Amino acid sequence: MQYAQLGRTGLRVSKLGFGCSPLGNEFGERDPLEAERAVHYAVDHGINYFDVAPYYGRTLAETRLGAALAGRRERVVLATKCGRYDVASFDFSAARIRLSLEESLRRLRTDYLDVFLAHDIEFVDAQQIIDEAVPTLRALQREGKARAIGITGLQLNAMRRVAEAVPVDVILSYCRYNPLIDDMDALLTPFARSHGIGLINASPLHMGMLTEQGPPAWHPAPVDVKQAARAIVELCRERGASASDVALQFCLRHPYVATTLAGMATVDQARQNIQASEAQADAALLEEIHALAAPAYNRSWRSGRAENQDYAQN
Ligand code: NAD
Repeated sequence: MQYAQLGRTGLRVSKLGFGCSPLGNEFGERDPLEAERAVHYAVDHGINYFDVAPYYGRTLAETRLGAALAGRRERVVLATKCGRYDVASFDFSAARIRLSLEESLRRLRTDYLDVFLAHDIEFVDAQQIIDEAVPTLRALQREGKARAIGITGLQLNAMRRVAEAVPVDVILSYCRYNPLIDDMDALLTPFARSHGIGLINASPLHMGMLTEQGPPAWHPAPVDVKQAARAIVELCRERGASASDVALQFCLRHPYVATTLAGMATVDQARQNIQASEAQADAALLEEIHALAAPAYNRSWRSGRAENQDYAQN
């Protein structure tokens, strides 16, 4: 496993990170014992970055991760989030963030976080994130409750504008850098790099799309993106390769991203993703994949408030 510095946080993170939304059954029911074994396998094979949120399974993922990490807490860089509690339930007030932290610490069976992030900030007024949420996260950091703080979301310009107005240590972007899309590099990476902000790239499989199983029913991508993804999966199968391996390898080559978060909930997935992370992508296959992705390339979707959209047509 390779490791990288997460911006200027002083945290050294595995380049492949463990995404815990599947632990909350966000991609279908998962066996809790198998999920626990997957966490143990990942820790024992060098993954140290774990990303979770109260939103995943409406606290279920945090509860499962806390149990799985019992006795292993000191070996991992533990990140959770605040502010999003259901599909349409957001609260970034100072009081709720403080309460959220205490609730998460209890579920995660620890007394501090490594990374604490405001979750999906494009759903609320950016001014509240700037004036209230980030200052509260900073206060909690000063109180020793979190080592680093930051923001997450789909809309890159909205995150950049917030980070211009109020410094953050970490930004987590998802579904904006993988074989179907790379506009993170135009809209966010240069800013993050020039400010020494730790950059996290989530959903290298485009939230399950670049897998044999395909996207979950709730996946919000446009239909032509789903068709391109299906064609990529079929091409990889014909070539005797796995689309998820190639997608992961493509993401792991990124020169500035500190950790790429793949959602996992089984030992087989953890083993496969770790093995993939230790090999190089097949360059010729990647060329073919780019050609298949081209008609639907860089197509994102609407998420959050109208004023926070990256693209007017979304
Ligand atoms: P992903 O692209 O990592 O895809 C996850 C899906 O792929 C799951 O169904 C998983 O079971 C499956 N999968 C994983 N490895 C596989 C393999 N080797 N073979 C076959 N299938 C495999 O999407 P994601 O889970 O949404 O993103 C990763 C993590 O990033 C999340 O779990 C979460 O922790 C984080 N994230 C954060 C935000 C945010 O903060 N707003 C948004 C998205 C994701």
